[in-house]
Amino acid sequence: MRILLVEDELGLGEAVQEHAASAGHAVDWMKTLEEAEHAAQSIAYHLVLLDLALPDGSGLDLLRGLRGRGDKVPVIILTARDRISDRIAGLNAGADDYLVKPFDLDELSARILAVTRRYAGDPNPVLRLGDLEIDQTARSVSVAGVQTELTAREWAVLELLMRRPGALVSKDRIEDALYAFGAEIESNAVEVYVSRLRKKLGREAIHTVRGLGYRLEP
Ligand code: CA
Repeated sequence: MRILLVEDELGLGEAVQEHAASAGHAVDWMKTLEEAEHAAQSIAYHLVLLDLALPDGSGLDLLRGLRGRGDKVPVIILTARDRISDRIAGLNAGADDYLVKPFDLDELSARILAVTRRYAGDPNPVLRLGDLEIDQTARSVSVAGVQTELTAREWAVLELLMRRPGALVSKDRIEDALYAFGAEIESNAVEVYVSRLRKKLGREAIHTVRGLGYRLEP
């Protein structure tokens, strides 16, 4: 997933960015409202992690802007324990969930998964497609009952494809999800990861639509 992290606390921002990156997500970390607004208008994010008290304004303005434009991207608010009114205002402005600082990084992962599953319209963490069984909570995949290990990047690609099995996902969209701003993009990265996934999941699991993208066979 491509995640927009908006947080001005350096220690917390670093921890969240590292944790999300180790799970294969591409994280754009913005420390001011202005930077965040700019990023949100140039990239279609899969998720926003939003601190409200920013040096140049309130994260609520970003959230209201997104919802005002009809953007349904899942938003999780990161807030201090004593700011209950902020949390309520955030939920009222269209946030999907919130986390109280300091939070456990594993709890963050669980919330991210829950919010994105709800967004995809399927609260069930286990997806079954023919021989293929994908457990999003355990991040495990089995083919005809045999477990197979995926790297974080392979998982990130599969995660995009399995949001809507059968739906076409463009190569650009996959590339967006793999690389944050400023990251060096490996050439043919998407082809490479799709080909590795096919080796592990079976040749027919992922269908190429020439010139357009890929889809997971439902
Ligand atoms: Ca802050």
